[in-house]
Amino acid sequence: MSVKDLGSIFKQAQEMQTKMADVQRDLAEKKVEVSTGGGMVKVVANGINEIISVNIDDELINMNDREVLEDLLTGAINEIHRKVKDLAQEEMTRFTGGIKIPGLFPSAVIELLEQLQRMPGIGQKTAERLSFFLMRGSEQQAYKLADAIYKVKEKIILCSQCHSITEFDPCGICQDPKRDPTFICVVEEPHDVYAMENMGYFKGVYHVLMGVISPLDGIGPAELTIESLRKRVLKDGVKEVVLATNPNMEGESTAIYIAKVLKMENIKITRIARGLPVGGDIEYADEVTLMKSLEGRTEMK
Ligand SMILES: [Zn+2]
Repeated sequence: MSVKDLGSIFKQAQEMQTKMADVQRDLAEKKVEVSTGGGMVKVVANGINEIISVNIDDELINMNDREVLEDLLTGAINEIHRKVKDLAQEEMTRFTGGIKIPGLFPSAVIELLEQLQRMPGIGQKTAERLSFFLMRGSEQQAYKLADAIYKVKEKIILCSQCHSITEFDPCGICQDPKRDPTFICVVEEPHDVYAMENMGYFKGVYHVLMGVISPLDGIGPAELTIESLRKRVLKDGVKEVVLATNPNMEGESTAIYIAKVLKMENIKITRIARGLPVGGDIEYADEVTLMKSLEGRTEMK
């Protein structure tokens, strides 16, 4: 490497540092807002994780329930930390994405890396490892994978009753005469159905929301299958609905919303117990924790 090359690397490093400082300055000016308990607690932070303000609604103070207040505050603060982290990551990606490293990967590889990284839990490093694995492997192996992806898209549909994934409509669970159609367990995503089924304890049927209410991501109640749940409750003479959304802020707000919607229909509405960690994910919970949380479900008033 010549002195000239070294000089240009130095210059690049300096430019990078300046850009990083710019990103930090931008982040400090950005505001992130989180509200919990249907807006009763509001927390605002900036992009470098400093809390700017905390607002507590009079209604909540008047409730005089320390535990609820502590829960909502803890939830809001955890949520805001997560949002700030996401924001910082987004800004950094925008920044590092702008740096072009010419000739590092052929364009076909870059395309594969980009597609892999769209999947949850796959970052740059994992995407690289997966794509190198595929490139080293046989053609047959790669076609098998591509074929499996294609088949899943071609054959898997959503059940018209519970909205879970299935090859037949209605799905096996909705069609099973041994299951109780008057007891519905509401979950966020199709994979939550599999987590619940693995525990082998629940004998009712499911309703998949296809997400959670998340105003910041532009997802309102109308984007979910809540209306279809309400109709189902009326049509099938449902006696109990247990809300098994994730015990994080969005999951909690969605459960509160659904409880309000269904309250008018005069049925028992329960929420899974706090055996699950707040901020956790049903998908990753072990069977015992899941079972305990279902056993200890509480009625939503
Ligand atoms: Zn179904």
